[in-house]
Amino acid sequence: MSDSTATRATTDAASADSTQSGVAITLDKVTKVYPGQETPAVDDFSMSVRPGELVMFVGPSGCGKTTTMKMINRIIEPSSGSIAIDGRDVLSLNPNELRRHIGYVIQQIGLFPHMTIAENIAVVPRLLGWSKQKIADRVDELLQTVQLDPGTFAARYPKQLSGGQQQRVGVARALAADPPVMLMDEPFGATDPITREKLQAEFLRLQESIGKTIIFVTHDFDEAIRLGDRIAVLSDRSQIEQFDTPANILSGPANDYVRSFIGQGAALKRLALIPVTDAKLKAASGASGVPSVPVEASLRDALDALVLAGVPAIDVVDGDGRAVGAVSVEAISEVLGAELPGVPPAGA
Ligand code: ADP
Repeated sequence: MSDSTATRATTDAASADSTQSGVAITLDKVTKVYPGQETPAVDDFSMSVRPGELVMFVGPSGCGKTTTMKMINRIIEPSSGSIAIDGRDVLSLNPNELRRHIGYVIQQIGLFPHMTIAENIAVVPRLLGWSKQKIADRVDELLQTVQLDPGTFAARYPKQLSGGQQQRVGVARALAADPPVMLMDEPFGATDPITREKLQAEFLRLQESIGKTIIFVTHDFDEAIRLGDRIAVLSDRSQIEQFDTPANILSGPANDYVRSFIGQGAALKRLALIPVTDAKLKAASGASGVPSVPVEASLRDALDALVLAGVPAIDVVDGDGRAVGAVSVEAISEVLGAELPGVPPAGA
């Protein structure tokens, strides 16, 4: 990293929660034709990812998601086009040097079996020549960040950990040298649904505090909705069918291809993205024993609670348990109606 880049990163960090924030990634007309293939695996792909953004690549197996992502850290070399990170052309950088500044998490995890958890996490800091003390402190900090007790886990070997724990170590290792960019290739794909949901929730909390620029490949649309700031829905040859926020894709799919990807239950999926406080709340009942949801709940949570309780409205309560209003099924459907393009908001 040049001095000017380091200075810029420091300045960004000051404005972004005191951690090193992400940087922009730009792909311009990037094409990959594998040797011996006639059709490109990735054809003329252009995209700008903003600093600190979490962009999901979602699409069916073989559509070119992984190839597109691996060109960013040059595990795969593009046939043509250009890629820039923080304004610097990655094709002009030394590939090994480049990879040290990009965290990389894959489904197969790739922990070294003969190294302890601490040694696995320390791989890149060691390459960067950090002092023993600095490495030890960082390993401790990262294990705590991914919710593994350093006293219990640092000296263990990978096979002594569950799949979900190993995946957490994979994330910790990718974060070790505090890279501004993370590439994640189906990182939670091999875990069971419950572990997966836990890892996703942890990862979202983590990203809120670290603000890396992340490209995350998945074939699971629900995962894309849950995690992404923006989602790129890709079809064959990595063609971008739509690139937008989860809410916009759910409320306005660009075409039948995107619609088929969303699948059933688009309205319910949208409700999970909208806070309950976006609904027009009525006066709270104030009565004790009335079912309630916390103010941080989504409209989906509120709907679940309404259906379970079988009542026309439930209270919304703040952290002190005070009811700030009541939400009804009508109020929830009004929010959905107001979001549909061309449909005037209720009461307008
Ligand atoms: P995805 O990640 O969406 O599953 P990939 O990027 O892995 O898709 O693959 C895109 C296309 O490129 C597929 O048709 C795949 O068969 C082909 N492909 C991937 N890797 C190679 C390779 N090393 N040599 C030739 N073709 C490849």
